[in-house]
Amino acid sequence: MKEIHEFTLPQLPYAYDALEPFYDKQTLEIHYTKHHAGYVAALNIATKKLAEARQTGEFSLIKHWEREYAFYGAGHFFHTMFWENMAPGKEDNKASGDLLVAIEKWFGSWDAFVGQFKAATTAVEGSGWGVLAKCPEGSLHIFAVENHQKSFPPGLKPIMVCDVWEHAYYLKYQNKRADWIVNFMKLVNWDEVSKRYSCYEKKMEKDCSDKDKISH
Ligand code: MN
Repeated sequence: MKEIHEFTLPQLPYAYDALEPFYDKQTLEIHYTKHHAGYVAALNIATKKLAEARQTGEFSLIKHWEREYAFYGAGHFFHTMFWENMAPGKEDNKASGDLLVAIEKWFGSWDAFVGQFKAATTAVEGSGWGVLAKCPEGSLHIFAVENHQKSFPPGLKPIMVCDVWEHAYYLKYQNKRADWIVNFMKLVNWDEVSKRYSCYEKKMEKDCSDKDKISH
């Protein structure tokens, strides 16, 4: 019986202090080792419970476990992308190449894109994420996700995400979410985001398989 995936916490692509001073070591370490790891553990429980329900035919708690699966699965997916789409910070951080051309095309200008991304992400009601995503037809979009899985437009593929749960910034930024987002923009690993953009553009499923899926 091989129907249960065992999800695992992916390796961080840098040290806990690599994103200082914009993202502090203590927040990053707690975020990764406690919060993200907690999502992985809870996702594995939900996965196991759904498999048990299939085996026994006892589906009375199906609504609960499908909700758990969606919440923790999306949390795991977004956190994995979040770590990968950051790198040591630069004050003049900016996309380049084909991705910059696409951003200017779909948002009017780089500054307009940054303005919308910051505003949409700052305005997330409660806990959630700011997301830059690509439509299969090629256009780029910004949207805000509540929690990890609500208000998510079907069909759009996220290529860059910013965590605005309080656990993501409160130790350093307290109530100043907008300040966290300003500094997050200095940390975006645009080379990594460009790879995601290009993979979806060219539909190179085989070559992109490791970047197109959550780790497990
Ligand atoms: Mn988080």
